[in-house]
Amino acid sequence: MSTDLTLSYATEFTGKVALVTGGASGIGLALSKRLAAGGAAVVVADYDEESARKAVAELTATGARAAAVRMDVTDPASVDAGVRFAVDTFGALHLAVNNAGIGGPAAPTGEYAVEDWNRVVATNLSGVFHSMRYEIPELLKTGGGAIVNISSILGTNGFAQSPAYVAAKHGVVGLTKTAALEYAAQNIRVNAVGPGFIDTPLLRNTDGPARDHLISLHPAGRLGTSEEVAELAAFLLSDRASFVHGSYHLVDGGYSAS
Ligand code: NDP
Repeated sequence: MSTDLTLSYATEFTGKVALVTGGASGIGLALSKRLAAGGAAVVVADYDEESARKAVAELTATGARAAAVRMDVTDPASVDAGVRFAVDTFGALHLAVNNAGIGGPAAPTGEYAVEDWNRVVATNLSGVFHSMRYEIPELLKTGGGAIVNISSILGTNGFAQSPAYVAAKHGVVGLTKTAALEYAAQNIRVNAVGPGFIDTPLLRNTDGPARDHLISLHPAGRLGTSEEVAELAAFLLSDRASFVHGSYHLVDGGYSAS
């Protein structure tokens, strides 16, 4: 594939259809907006259907093509139906961001509730598998495409009191590399993004000293923004990243450098 470096921000995704899981909030919403701003038709797939509809109303008000679908990434049938909705609505699928995720409660491994483990892994790891399981056959039909899986800085670092989240996010990195190997020759690029702590509704219950502690982990001296994550993911989805396959890219304010 040749790379057209003259593509502009406003047109780099023109003619592409993109699906964003968890696309109604935080990082997913910023990605939905960024892809729409680049000309993509965007399917906002979210557990929270009302928020997905609101996000779509915001996108279409800017002239973008967008549609909302309720999707529960823990349920393969729901993911299959959501991918089918994208193809039925816009005719194909070229780009996917597997972003839906939850934090889970804080507790050490020896006390972590089994049901919490199952819920976090079902959402943050199995959810990414289910998504790719149904997206990849559609990308193959269009001759290729690109997938970004949202992992975390905790896809490479440990973090006390978050065993399920950390294990799931490490798993996303391995799953990303494996799918990338399997489909690189068929023109599908699969990459992962590892954000540091980002100021989104996911951190809604983190304030005071706990928030200050999270900020202190980032040499940049602040939490990241959803838009900063979306920009890296957008690059990886674009043809500008045409030789980037199977890698894990951090956007973490320097967290991992220390
Ligand atoms: P948000 O909570 O703002 O957004 C996550 C979205 O995913 C919500 O709309 C949520 O819906 C949706 N969602 C949750 N469960 C499911 C499900 N089973 N099926 C479909 N959609 C679902 O979180 P962020 O934007 O912060 O997180 C996005 C991703 O980024 C996650 O994978 C997260 O782990 C990752 N990440 C976040 C970081 C951060 O510090 N914020 C740092 C590193 C990675 P609802 O609101 O109804 O639950």
